[in-house]
Amino acid sequence: MGSALDKLDHWIAGSAVMPTGADYMAVTDPATGCEARQLACGNADDVDLAVQAASAAETAWKQIPALARARLFGDLARAMRADSAELARLEISETGKPEAVALAEVENSATYFDFYGGLIGMPAGDTLDVAPDQHVYTRREAFGVIGVITPWNVPLNQAARACAPALAAGNTVVVKPSESTSASTVRLAQLATEVGFPSGVFNVVLGTGQDAGAALVAHPDVSKVAFTGSVGTGRAIGHIAADRIIPVTLELGGKSANIIFADADVEKAVAGSLLAFTANAGQVCSAGTRLLVHRSIHDEVVQKLAAGAAAVRPGRDIGPLITRAQLERVQEYFKIAESEGAQAVTGGTVSVVAQETGGFYIDPTVYIGVDNSARIAREEIFGPVVLMLAFDTEDEAIELANDSDYGLVAGVWTSNVSRALRVSERIRVGQVFVNTWSTGSVQTPFGGWKNSGYGREKGVEALHHYSQVKCVTIKFEGDSQ
Ligand code: NAD
Repeated sequence: MGSALDKLDHWIAGSAVMPTGADYMAVTDPATGCEARQLACGNADDVDLAVQAASAAETAWKQIPALARARLFGDLARAMRADSAELARLEISETGKPEAVALAEVENSATYFDFYGGLIGMPAGDTLDVAPDQHVYTRREAFGVIGVITPWNVPLNQAARACAPALAAGNTVVVKPSESTSASTVRLAQLATEVGFPSGVFNVVLGTGQDAGAALVAHPDVSKVAFTGSVGTGRAIGHIAADRIIPVTLELGGKSANIIFADADVEKAVAGSLLAFTANAGQVCSAGTRLLVHRSIHDEVVQKLAAGAAAVRPGRDIGPLITRAQLERVQEYFKIAESEGAQAVTGGTVSVVAQETGGFYIDPTVYIGVDNSARIAREEIFGPVVLMLAFDTEDEAIELANDSDYGLVAGVWTSNVSRALRVSERIRVGQVFVNTWSTGSVQTPFGGWKNSGYGREKGVEALHHYSQVKCVTIKFEGDSQ
């Protein structure tokens, strides 16, 4: 991949492999609207090749002693850091995100291999005291081949987040990245091969969800699927997995509530809340897109947040939306907001930077004036758009936060520790951030409740989702002769 316009092929059994159908599709650079590169269009035959390679590599992978596998993880993390300029360049060419953000993503992605490399050999099993003439123990064993399907928002991070624990638990992987953002995942697989991962352990098959993704989920030799993406796709994948009776981890969308109480440090709360909906141009599953503010400070927060949002410059501070289709989708939500009676305090428009560059840029947008039943309060927009809602009591704030089909993340801004604990306990989400807003770190388990999915990524927790328990009972004779 020397030039940004190279053709991108599958990575199967340690080599670049052209698509069996010889079909390619264009990938667009969202910062310019121009073609970034050509991408292999995989089909069921390509998926089969990749899964066969992953199946064939299972034994070789397991036979490497745990410490030697851990060393490979360390080598891969180092290789990613050494290659950070190239990984970031590939990521930028398909997402348009600012360079500092892309470099931070590379660093964050490398930490998955640091962390899970250190956990290889974990999770260990237990010895169970069942009867005096029995030795009973449990082992956690790999599933086999894991199919990993990732979205476009933080592509390298999503691939590393799933593959590192899956590989650490002893599985082999076939990744199907988003057709909009596949390049950094292919480069990651190349680096894994370069540092000595046996061929076939880390494969990437490219193409659309309908052709390559669905075939991966349906493949009889795929033993588990880890999916990150939209609710609709997650549901479709869940149906196939249910028919096949294989487990699936679903990391889906969100409409996360971020609550600012009257006793919060308003300056810090506003700064955190701005980041919560503008980071990655709002294309984050855990974006804080419903901002609930105590009525006594509501107007002050509206004014400060709007000023902060107006100062965020698309093209400099945040990147574009990923595709023209996503731009049109967000514009459609602007019309919906208007028809629902919402007022944009700032934004609500395509950025002037879009006209200047041809890129898909949106101005950060702050809405007020509608309640939690509005579509812009209930549906994931996936752009830098926030809706502000006022509340009077703690109970009302919790009720509003929980009045959502989603349950991914919540934020709580308060100086009262008791309130922080009370509210964190009552909000029905997978993770709560108090006086901060982030996506957590590699150690913190991450995942959704309700329509935001099930299963967990990150932390030691993820290893449990990439391994299954076997219990062995050995009956032995009491007589020592
Ligand atoms: P998407 O569901 O359209 O696509 C995700 C992936 O699934 C892509 O690789 C796509 O090619 C593939 N796919 C599509 N149809 C498929 C099918 N029928 N069978 C198999 N695979 C198929 O999602 P997206 O638009 O790429 O990403 C945005 C969504 O992802 C948002 O809803 C966002 O909230 C969610 N997301 C969730 C998390 C999380 O950790 N919870 C993280 C990032 C993004």
